[in-house]
Amino acid sequence: MSTYARAPISFERGEGPYLFDGAGRRYLDFAAGVAVVSLGHCHPHLVAALHVQAETLWHTSNLYRIAGQERLAARLVEHSFADKAFFCNSGAEAVEGGLKMVRRYHDETGHPERYRVITFAGAFHGRTLATLAAGGQAKHLAGYDPRVEGFDQVPYGDIEATRRAITKDTAAILVEPLQGEAGARVPPSGFLRALRRLCDEHGLLLFLDEVQTGVGRTGRLFAYEWEGIKPDLMAVAKGLGGGFPIGAVLATDAVAAVMTAGSHGSTFGGNLLAVAVGNAVLDVVLGEGFLEGVRRIAGALSQRLAPLASEYPSVIAELRGSGLLLGLRAQGEARNHAALIEGLRNGGLVVAPAGDNVVRLVPPLVIDESHVDEAGRILESVCRSLAS
Ligand SMILES: *Cc1c(COP(=O)(O)O)cnc(C)c1O
Repeated sequence: MSTYARAPISFERGEGPYLFDGAGRRYLDFAAGVAVVSLGHCHPHLVAALHVQAETLWHTSNLYRIAGQERLAARLVEHSFADKAFFCNSGAEAVEGGLKMVRRYHDETGHPERYRVITFAGAFHGRTLATLAAGGQAKHLAGYDPRVEGFDQVPYGDIEATRRAITKDTAAILVEPLQGEAGARVPPSGFLRALRRLCDEHGLLLFLDEVQTGVGRTGRLFAYEWEGIKPDLMAVAKGLGGGFPIGAVLATDAVAAVMTAGSHGSTFGGNLLAVAVGNAVLDVVLGEGFLEGVRRIAGALSQRLAPLASEYPSVIAELRGSGLLLGLRAQGEARNHAALIEGLRNGGLVVAPAGDNVVRLVPPLVIDESHVDEAGRILESVCRSLAS
């Protein structure tokens, strides 16, 4: 189906942060499958883990214990706020699962009237009916009425509007620590802390969508760590599989306790192949000094990109984002970022579009100074030619 306006190109091979097309032309991949290929293409440790598992056992269903799944859950729990994990296959499924847990939690704890969830303008939570309603974006919802009920949206970063939106029916606040699809939008500092306080005051659950920001993207394992808070539940996916489909809902014991046998499920979720790769991703990301390296290279990339807006003001309006989730907002007409993205691809740099006329840079977490420099040179040359 024509659900994507695809670029006229097909990549046939990948190695680290590079992609190669059929003609053997090399591209520096600063899109990473839209923040998915967290350790670069064909990372040898991931390839080996997948290979070994593929020759051992692929799938048994969740009717039986899966040692790799238990290990991945234990490691995610050890390194996060969470006590329990549920595995699925994608970001939307993780958010959808979390929304079910939110409703069930309040139903089981004596507040069945609490089912409404506060979300934020510009949010993206996935493409299922409920996650579309949560995101609330007209362009994604068009043609799919009636809308799943129970979401109240307020401006991102606006704590007073959030407070005013709370009613006796409110169950949770669902939020991205920074908005990826909306164009690498960073909320005012202290926003998550203020949301945590609101949730505590009103008996609401704080539900983070870290599908894009999680697993090292911002230089911490999870972005919420920057604000020193703990959510009640959280969705992760994208980077967790490094390109292999996997998603997870992480939750506290209080939330997880309401999820009893039969209350939720997934045929493929957390199967042996997926969790073998997930564990291999964690081997690397949790390795000594890895996240520190992400913070260092993210700083170098920001520094390299920051002058573009002042040097080419007719092309780039601003640099924004955090860690290795950065956005260059294109100047002028709402579609200008498309020209920039195409120019960059022709110049050998693959980037991803985002909302608000933003070119999103979400490179693999394993890039080094030479890749930062290469991306910087391509960006400069494309900006120069678009400016003239
Ligand atoms: C990509 C994304 C999703 C949806 O993930 P899928 O795997 O495409 O279903 C949900 N939330 C956020 C923040 C995302 O970036």
